This record gives sequence, C-alpha cells and structure tokens, in this order.
Amino acid sequence: MIYKRSSALFAEAKSYIPGGVNSPVRAFKAVGGDPIFVNEAKGAYLYDEDGNRLIDYIASWGPLILGHAYEPVINAVIEKAKKGTSFGMPTEIETELAKLAVSMVPNIDKIRFVNSGTEACMSAVRLARGFSGKDKIIKFAGCYHGHSDSFLIQAGSGAVTFGSPNSPGVTQGTAKDTLLANYNDLDSVEAIVKANKEEIAAIIIEPVAGNMGCIVPKDGFMQGLRKICDQENILLVFDEVMTGFRLGKGGAQEALNINADILCFGKVIGGGLPVGAFAARNEIMDYLAPEGPVYQAGTLSGNPLAMSAGLAMLTELNAHPEIFKSLADKTEYLHKGLDEVLRSKGIPYQINRFGSMISVHFTEEPVVDFQTSAKGNNETFKKYFHGMLQNGIYLPPSAFESYFLNDALTYHDLDETVNAVNSVFNE
Ligand code: PMP
Repeated sequence: MIYKRSSALFAEAKSYIPGGVNSPVRAFKAVGGDPIFVNEAKGAYLYDEDGNRLIDYIASWGPLILGHAYEPVINAVIEKAKKGTSFGMPTEIETELAKLAVSMVPNIDKIRFVNSGTEACMSAVRLARGFSGKDKIIKFAGCYHGHSDSFLIQAGSGAVTFGSPNSPGVTQGTAKDTLLANYNDLDSVEAIVKANKEEIAAIIIEPVAGNMGCIVPKDGFMQGLRKICDQENILLVFDEVMTGFRLGKGGAQEALNINADILCFGKVIGGGLPVGAFAARNEIMDYLAPEGPVYQAGTLSGNPLAMSAGLAMLTELNAHPEIFKSLADKTEYLHKGLDEVLRSKGIPYQINRFGSMISVHFTEEPVVDFQTSAKGNNETFKKYFHGMLQNGIYLPPSAFESYFLNDALTYHDLDETVNAVNSVFNE
C-alpha cells in the first residue's frame, strides 16, 4: 500500500503542530515511519488520504465500540447540533445520560461529566484527597491515567520510596505524593501502605490494564487491593476509562466482581465525542462543588453534542448487552488465530486478552506487569506493525497499547487479519 499523501500531510503538519500531532502516540515514534492521515471511516474500516482501506483495531483508542460513524450516534449529534452547540447552562440530556450510566454501573449514585479521561482521573483523585483529608496516592507502574501532573510518574527502583517526575514540568513536590507499586504484586502495595500509615488517600488502578499492552489482573489481586483499602481506610479508584462500558454494562467492577469507591470513565461513554466522567456513591460525590468543598468545573462539561453521542451509545449498549459477548467471542477467535500462526513460526510471543481487549508481546515470559511488558522485542514488534500496515491492517503503533475490537469487525476481517500475520512472518 502507498502512503504518499499521508507522508506529505505529516510533513506539513510538523511545521505548525509540535511533532505534527495533537497526541504523541499518533506520531509512530515507537515504530518509525510516518503516521497515516485518515480521511473518513465507516464500521470497522478507516479510509486514509491515499485512498487505502484499513481494518481498524484501535477504534479511536476505544470509544467506537460499535464501529465508526455508527448511525444512531451520528444522527443524535446532527439533530442536537441544529439546536445549538453549547450553552454553559443545564440541559435535560445531562440528567438522561447520568441516569442511564448510574443504572448500568454497579455501586454508584451520582456521576459528574468532564471532557476527557485525564480530567476524570485528575478530578477523582482531588475528590479522594478532599474526602479523606489525606494527600498521597498509590499508582501502578505502567498504568496511565491521563497526563495530569500526579500521574506522570515513572517507576523508580524502590516502590516504597517517593516517586520522581518522568516528565520535565512535573514538580518534585507533586511527584512525592504519588507512590509507585507493581501491577499484580500485592506485596509491593502492602510495603508502601505500611511505610505511609494514615497518609494514603487512594489507590488508583486500571482494573484491566491497557496501557502496557493488555494486562489481566491475577486471581486475588483485586480482592487483595479491596481488602487493603478497607483495612486501611483508603479509597479504591478504578480507572475505567478503557474498561467502562467495554467489558460489559457494568465495566470491570461487574466483570471482576469487585466494587471500587470512585470510578473514572472516558472513551465509550462519549460515543466518540470528548467526554469523561467520574462517579461514586452519594457520600463521596456530595463532597463535590457546589454541594461540597472540593472544586471542579468546566465550560464545555456536559456539552449537548457530547451528551447526545454518549446517550445514543449507552442506550444501544444497554438495550443490546449481547454485544459484549459478541465482542468477546470475536476477540477470542482472533486470539486463537494469532496463536496458531505465531506458534507455527517459532517466534517467542505472549497474547493477553480480556473481553474485547487484546495485545501481543514478543517475549518468552508471561506479561503480568510493566517490567515483563517492557521485555518485549521492539524490533519484532516494528516489523509486525509495519507488515500489517502494508497488508491493510491498522494496529496500535506501540507494544504498550491494547487493541480495542469493535463490533463492526466481521469474522472475515478477523480471518484476513490472521492471514496477514501469516504472510508478514513468512517474509
Ligand atoms: N485512563 C486510561 C486508562 C486511559 O487509557 C486514558 C487514555 N488512553 C486516560 C485515562 C486518559 O484519557 P484521555 O486521553 O481522554 O485524557
């Protein structure tokens, strides 16, 4: 396939936009080469600026669980837009979406809408701190909770020691309140909790991780976290930006049968428009302004176009919960196909999967945390990524990302994908 116009557009974009993109992973830095500029998309397919058709395994990084340009969502947005795009005043549709989300997700009474997953996580942690009167939080190496300062903390050598910033611009003062534990490692959490008695407001986690590839929590890990939180009076924050309304109506709480204290949402809840949200039971949510003292706001929060997309999306998922099973079945089918091909090639690999999240790591060791994920062979990954792209398959351009299947993918698309893997590794 030819990507000439994409390359020309990228060259021009670089003159006016830092790195040519408005979010770094889009620039293909990890895999090399120029990013694809998309012109339009429908269902499971992207159509790029060179006229190529690509089978899409990213779905805008998760939101488009029913495929691109899903008609009920598009129509809802068009109809809403005719009535005005923003008011900065309350509208009925905000309550409609809130009511539906609260009915689908276990263990929440109220929800506040924001504009991104970053805002959701940032606000959730502020609320946890305000509610508990404590400052520190625990996060897990390799988990991503958006780009607000408290979360841009890299794993240091000692999980019990203070974090250090991994992005210039994050102050040491902020970094010291973010403590790092290892995913699937309860001992690392216990050690931190012990060393910071009565100081930890919240533990925030991706209940199924998708930002170091897909990583599944081991049996007992989430239960263990819940127990530590209960014993130590720490709030458990599930960052369900990826998992919410993807792993099932009730997201990871339902899929893993664990209740968290605060939930963060993004992606699917906005149907492809900029929406994030955080939610909890009344006693926590009533701590938020204007009822309570913890401040949080947004000019475009609850935007009518965004709410209409979210409402159309959740209405569809609520009415057809069989979609989640259909997606999981497709993902399992893809898993089996990939397994067969890769095994036959004698390449070391691991495939992790949960629901409609899946990823391939080129390593011999099981991938259970950031450390094991980082051992993946990036040269093999690059060849795989570019080979697939040449075959018209669009995969995440980094091994530290999950694929997100969408329900418009057909079994024929999945077969085409597996056949492409076969030809890539024959070459
Ligand atoms: N949390 C998780 C788990 C995410 O995957 C992401 C984004 N991929 C975010 C938070 C941040 O969301 P956004 O990019 O909408 O700010």
